[in-house]
Amino acid sequence: MKPKLFIPGPTHVDQEILDAMAQYPIGHRTADYRELQSKVVTGVQELLYTNQSVLVSTSSATGLMEAGVRNLSNQKVANFVCGAFSQRQADITRICGLDQDIFKVEWGQATTAEQVEAALSSGDYDLVTVVFNETSTGVMNPLAEIGEVVKQYPNTLLMVDAVSGMLGAPIKVDEWGIDMVFASVQKAWGIPPGFALMSLSDQALERSASIPESQKGFYFDFVRMHKAGEKSQTTVTPSIPHLYALAAQLDRIKAEGLDNRFARHKAMATRVRDWGNDRFGLFAQPGYESATLTCFQNAAQLDLIALVEKMKTRDYLISGGYGDLKGQTFRLAHMGDLQMDDIEDVLNVMDEVIEEL
Ligand SMILES: *Cc1c(COP(=O)(O)O)cnc(C)c1O
Repeated sequence: MKPKLFIPGPTHVDQEILDAMAQYPIGHRTADYRELQSKVVTGVQELLYTNQSVLVSTSSATGLMEAGVRNLSNQKVANFVCGAFSQRQADITRICGLDQDIFKVEWGQATTAEQVEAALSSGDYDLVTVVFNETSTGVMNPLAEIGEVVKQYPNTLLMVDAVSGMLGAPIKVDEWGIDMVFASVQKAWGIPPGFALMSLSDQALERSASIPESQKGFYFDFVRMHKAGEKSQTTVTPSIPHLYALAAQLDRIKAEGLDNRFARHKAMATRVRDWGNDRFGLFAQPGYESATLTCFQNAAQLDLIALVEKMKTRDYLISGGYGDLKGQTFRLAHMGDLQMDDIEDVLNVMDEVIEEL
């Protein structure tokens, strides 16, 4: 038996999704395919409360982190950094040769609307990058408030990494003024890795159209991708098994109810925090704790390597810290298709294992 996944990606996948992926493929230039993609796009639009363009990408989310900055900025990028993944976005911006300023907070703290306001009022940025849920620290940033600030700057686009937050908490794309939001499918979507999706505003598409192809490249040119998307097509051969999985997952989300799904995530997050808050301490700034994963400090000085190893021998995979936090923190995911029973189960085993350490 493979250990059950309680790491923040890839996450646990239900058998129904695995079965959906195992279907015989269809040609990607057929009417059947267009129907499949169209169903997925309409479903995602509903989940993101948007009428804007939704595009699928056969890549991990990092492909879209790179594509976003290359398609959406020809002036200067403001990268807001609060942990390892938002730092990756800043690194990608630099590596792509774009002009940028980086605005950091200490890991564990949130990027706030005030911080974004201060940066935008003193600079000349055409793109803001911000992470919704910082997977390395367990912080969920106040996206609605950040969106309100960026709206005051009509030339500035808002690009959001929602990789580990999408479907764990609401993201109201149109209302919050988000120009690009993206996620891969192996986090709160509960689907095996290898695929990503995004929404793009009209203004984002206009910006992309104004940028030379030599900056955007071919594979991730948003204009090309959107043109194909309008015909329920992709520019290149997509991962059809992932589209089957998304279609199946959208049916399941409809059956559960989106609000119920959010409520389930909230309940699981509360349960996990209550379990360990006193003993270990939370890494996230109070008030900004993530709905999809919890990052614990190691106040009890546990041997974290032994903890992770012992959990693995009991068939549970949990995570030590990420990046600079390795060995100092441990993380437990409570997202996707994990249910409260799974959480009770893993917490019981954690208690037993910690007792033995
Ligand atoms: C996992 C993760 C990524 C990277 O996603 P890939 O699909 O592995 O490229 C980026 N940002 C955040 C916040 C993540 O949690």
